[in-house]
Amino acid sequence: MALRITGNTVVCGLIGDPVEHTMSPAMHNAAYQQMGLDYVYIPFRVRADELGKAIDGMRAFNIRGLNVTIPHKVAVIPFLDKLDPLAEKIGAVNTVVNDNGVLTGYNTDATGFLRALTEKGIEVRGKKAMILGAGGASRAVSLILADSGAERLIILNRAQELDWAYELAGNISQLYNMDAKAGQLNRESLDSVMERIDVSILVNATSVGMTPDVNNTPIDADLLRPGLAVFDVIYNPLKTRLLMEAEAAGARTVSGIEMLVWQGVLAFEKFTSHEPPPDLMRQEALRLLEKNEN
Ligand code: NAP
Repeated sequence: MALRITGNTVVCGLIGDPVEHTMSPAMHNAAYQQMGLDYVYIPFRVRADELGKAIDGMRAFNIRGLNVTIPHKVAVIPFLDKLDPLAEKIGAVNTVVNDNGVLTGYNTDATGFLRALTEKGIEVRGKKAMILGAGGASRAVSLILADSGAERLIILNRAQELDWAYELAGNISQLYNMDAKAGQLNRESLDSVMERIDVSILVNATSVGMTPDVNNTPIDADLLRPGLAVFDVIYNPLKTRLLMEAEAAGARTVSGIEMLVWQGVLAFEKFTSHEPPPDLMRQEALRLLEKNEN
């Protein structure tokens, strides 16, 4: 069905650079069409040095909502009027809502990650979690795990300096008055954590295992066990080597596609005040991923 634009069509979109491979327009527009909403979702490639102008444009064109992707998730913050408390703690925004010229930033990567876990029946409160990586995805995941009552966090990162992991763990310990520690991502520390700590949630928030690096995994298979919930934030491929090995070890698994779908669902709700069909958004994302593979 062709998209119909009217004089009342509400405009939403995505800003990033690059934006060519984004799945968000397909996910959002399919849901608008199925729900009969007079909305359209457009990708905008915005260079880093034009971010301020783009946000001025959001106000001037009365664009209702924007998703924000690499490289603007942190840099967009000074241009907004308000920040949701969770986005403020994370220090990154992936969703901006325009309420009559007042722009508020949210982080639905984090809430989408949480929703993906809870949809699979995986409880966070009182649990011990190990997060691999200390980049953007790790910040969102680690903060929401702490915010949702995880008892203990261990954040492991490969960098020699470990600056990011220590800073992240330090911030979380302070903000939530909880036990959050950092360490180096190597076999020795993985052995030590898995031996000493009853980890029940393991999250890969590195890019290890992402296409074309599909033969790699951030943690050896012999450390995986039943009783673990293993979440890989990577969605390409859908089933990473880590997820295959976790499944073979009897662990529960969640693919990054679920985080992608739920961040989209939660942003859609903020833009439209309607609940979109998650299955349709997932189907659109899967369709594009398959197309990109061929
Ligand atoms: P980022 O900020 O660049 O962070 C990448 C992380 O991966 C860093 O901790 C980096 O460690 C680590 N890393 C990279 N190569 C490594 C290697 N060979 N060995 C060990 N660690 C390595 O990227 P990001 O935005 O967090 O994205 C990370 C992944 O999450 C990507 O695959 C992205 O597609 C995915 N993601 C998925 C969703 C979703 O909705 N499912 C949302 C956001 C991101 P150093 O600090 O040492 O470089």
